[in-house]
Amino acid sequence: MNPRLQKTADALRRRGFDAAVFDTARQAVDFILGDLPAAQEVGMGGSVTLAQIALSDALRDAGHTVHWHQDAPAGEGAAIRRRAMNAPVYAASINALTEDGLIVQIDGTGNRVAAMCFGPQTVYLIAGRNKLVAGGYAQAVRRIKQVACPLNARRLGLNTPCSEEGGRCDVSRCTRPMCNLFLAIEHAPNAKRTQVVLIDEDLGY
Ligand code: SF4
Repeated sequence: MNPRLQKTADALRRRGFDAAVFDTARQAVDFILGDLPAAQEVGMGGSVTLAQIALSDALRDAGHTVHWHQDAPAGEGAAIRRRAMNAPVYAASINALTEDGLIVQIDGTGNRVAAMCFGPQTVYLIAGRNKLVAGGYAQAVRRIKQVACPLNARRLGLNTPCSEEGGRCDVSRCTRPMCNLFLAIEHAPNAKRTQVVLIDEDLGY
């Protein structure tokens, strides 16, 4: 088992999160399926990681109802985001995670970070080993600005300064930012369960 992930899981538990480490994405998905009561309504945040681990298909095949704008017909995204953040269960991925258990998220629209803070009673936050950073908040933000945002901007066809060849973040020139909102989760929020799922694979951006 990856010792960095184990150390991070221990730190997350000290911060009030539930945390589990898995060698493979398949094991992680099986854990979530086994953890959920039957016939749940599950909202999902936009995520390459969640697409790679095929979580929506696994949930639907197991009899759950999934609200995910990422696989919805064009034009329904806003309504589905709203339904997702009002579901009792929510799943999203992590943008950056420090070894001492600080979770740092970005959001363009705000639906993901809203659901992580309030609303759904159970939240699964999923991260591959590539989301771990050595250091603290500044290093987490650097990872987001230098790795996550450029790759996501290219994926979505957004012409952001960070996605240009050799580019870097330039807020003054960025007309389609995806990092409008930053959320640092220092301790698990009150009145909900936040289950962090760490996977010893490179997943997402
Ligand atoms: S503000 Fe714009 S340029 Fe800067 S990291 Fe975010 S998306 Fe990229």
